[in-house]
Amino acid sequence: MTLSLNQDMTAAEIETWLVETSPDKILLLLRHADNTRRHYVGDAVWFRGLVELSNYCRRNCLYCGVRAARRIERYRMTRDEILESAQKAHEWNFGTLVMQAGEDSALDEEFVADLIVEIKERFELAITLSLGERTEHEWARWKEAGADRYLLRFETSNRQLFHAIHPPAPNSSPQDRVALLRRLRDLGYEVGSGVMIGIPGQSFSDLAQDLALFRELDLDMIGCGPFLPHSSTPLGRVELIDGLLHSQEANGLNVRSKVDRFCFPAAERQVPNDLATTFKVLALSRIILPNANIPSTTAIATLDGQKGRQSGLECGGNVIMPNLTPMKYRKLYEIYPNKSGTGESAETTVATALKQIGEIGRFQGVGSGSSPRFLERNGSNRKTER
Ligand code: SAM
Repeated sequence: MTLSLNQDMTAAEIETWLVETSPDKILLLLRHADNTRRHYVGDAVWFRGLVELSNYCRRNCLYCGVRAARRIERYRMTRDEILESAQKAHEWNFGTLVMQAGEDSALDEEFVADLIVEIKERFELAITLSLGERTEHEWARWKEAGADRYLLRFETSNRQLFHAIHPPAPNSSPQDRVALLRRLRDLGYEVGSGVMIGIPGQSFSDLAQDLALFRELDLDMIGCGPFLPHSSTPLGRVELIDGLLHSQEANGLNVRSKVDRFCFPAAERQVPNDLATTFKVLALSRIILPNANIPSTTAIATLDGQKGRQSGLECGGNVIMPNLTPMKYRKLYEIYPNKSGTGESAETTVATALKQIGEIGRFQGVGSGSSPRFLERNGSNRKTER
């Protein structure tokens, strides 16, 4: 049977690709994604300067190393430190600054809005925020202040699994991240989302639904990476994972532990948190949303420090996110262990990244690198800068 490979693939067809094991067919998928990337968004690689503003977080996500319950040293960057990182992004012609943090109430509406205004006044940088679930009022204010983009992964489209691994904030009710992403779009943000690949309890049919949801949400940016277990979190501890899977089965969820994955139909099998599956997800994302911006993520580079970043760029990716967080804070933003670039200066990271993209015949994009999908939807004739 010939497998269809186009923008309109059904979730069932997407799933067939996700479980495909023939090396020839997988190569065909990855090549098709690379050609699609070249055709729609070109050979530029956009550098986003990532600044991890704070590791304070009020949430207790079962997967995350900066979850509130962990007793770790906490930090919050000062305004001057953030501006210094923005200066570096500007000097290196990154075009975009990504400000990410845990859900930290001290990064309040006023502080973030003032920061955005100052960065916009001083540097020619697009601003991407990734500050978690915040109020509509805050999001509107930050957009008005000049923020351009917002990243909020829905992590998995399987709602029961999402709520199991992402408990609500204290004194709050569970939030629907898909609804939140639609609000961000209405507020005028360029919207990015994504998932972790290989979350315990995630099946191939869940992952196929995730990809279908990227298309339904018509995302401007899609960021995905393998789930990397952190031994100091509940999802990094096998005995607790088994408990979680059992409680989900009791809830009627058709998921199984890794141990017995080969005994069940493909759709019900646990997704592995490996690079092979991650690259298929990147490739399928590129094919179904050909002019979105898609990063080769840090989690990919963490699993394969030698070739991971390049491989991600060769199966659909067109963005990388060098880390500009000051060295003294790097190891404290340990969302998962051995995060790529943790012990390396920003200068080294950038030099390595430029060498890596050159080796695969790509070049650094100059300008803000807005998502061509976003520009198209908003009727802009302006082609993304080259
Ligand atoms: N608090 C914000 C939020 O939740 O969107 C931004 C920070 S959060 C640490 C950024 C992303 O890190 C999450 O969306 C999640 O996908 C990823 N992440 C956290 N723990 C991870 C893990 N153990 N393995 C892989 N990715 C992880």
